[in-house]
Amino acid sequence: MHGANGSALSAQPPRLLGPAQIRGLAAELGVRPTKTLGQNFVHDANTVRRIVATAGVDESDRVLEVGPGLGSLTLALLGAAGSVEAVEIDPVLAARLPETIAEYAPAQQDSFDVITADALRISASDLSGEPTALVANLPYNVAVPVLLHLMSEVDSLRTALVMVQAEVADRLAAEPGSRVYGIPSVKARYFGRVSRAGAVGRNVFWPEPKVESGLVRIDRTDDYPRDAQERRRVFEVIDAAFAQRRKTLRAALAGWAGSPVEAERRLRAAGIDPSARGERLGIADYVALAQTALP
Ligand code: SAM
Repeated sequence: MHGANGSALSAQPPRLLGPAQIRGLAAELGVRPTKTLGQNFVHDANTVRRIVATAGVDESDRVLEVGPGLGSLTLALLGAAGSVEAVEIDPVLAARLPETIAEYAPAQQDSFDVITADALRISASDLSGEPTALVANLPYNVAVPVLLHLMSEVDSLRTALVMVQAEVADRLAAEPGSRVYGIPSVKARYFGRVSRAGAVGRNVFWPEPKVESGLVRIDRTDDYPRDAQERRRVFEVIDAAFAQRRKTLRAALAGWAGSPVEAERRLRAAGIDPSARGERLGIADYVALAQTALP
């Protein structure tokens, strides 16, 4: 049987990068990892294998990877997926990747593509194919915006499995009423089911980050409209409700609705108690609420 990349399943699997290879590549490129770009490179083969297994990608998947860095996760992905398209903002790292892939995954090199770009600014038309799965060790300072942006922009994505800061993973997967339930928790649910998918320690990275990491998974369900305008309307009311999360919704949404009276009318129309707080509402409530704003 042949995969989407045209290679036999028995093709030589990619070799993975360990600490020595990561240091070697970084030294050759003169890379000094920057915090601004969230550059913490994974140098542990078991971790990248685990991420790929948890993502559950197979030969039928076209993977979108954000921030491939030196290629640790990319190589593991190429051993399982049909193809990988990577988006890397750092031109030095992006330029070296094809060579690394050719060296460590010669049988899969034709299934790999990289574009030098900011993942926050790309749209589906910038990609050469239609990716089915997002798998990434995301740069921590822009992890949530990147995840939401790509789930919004790239309709073909069915699943996302991303590594983020543990605290952000908890936040994304939190349920209404939880202390850490917030804007990312609600918005992520617009796209589908969200779940924690494991913890990752600091020592698998170079350099070691100050915080623990966690894996989060989104399985797209298409419960809510894909239309960008509709989504913006829903996200607007979520932002308003959480901007003043200690206030009742009647007060917190006064600005969004135009007045506390109109906020109350809309809340009642959506079947929501006006004295409740935003942290108690699920995504379905926010979608219903946004609809009450329509003429
Ligand atoms: N995937 C690699 C690994 O696991 O070793 C590197 C992960 S590192 C946490 C994040 C990567 O994202 C870095 O390579 C960084 O240059 C890149 N990056 C940072 N901001 C980005 C952005 N806005 N768009 C695309 N890539 C970005």
